[in-house]
Amino acid sequence: MPRYQYGCQDCGESFEKELRMSQSGETQICPACGSDQTRKRIGAVAVTSGGPARQSAPPPRSPFT
Ligand SMILES: [Zn+2]
Repeated sequence: MPRYQYGCQDCGESFEKELRMSQSGETQICPACGSDQTRKRIGAVAVTSGGPARQSAPPPRSPFT
């Protein structure tokens, strides 16, 4: 299940939630203050631990000559 990181607009708490894709758009309640003024920070953080996400090198460009 992917994890999402949220930040609370009211108290600044940041927390992660494991959500199904269908739940990812729902408002999450801040566990610290109970506010619903939370924002999803980034897409999905790494699902499994085990090093940083691999970044594939950009494909080689063919010259325009
Ligand atoms: Zn809060």
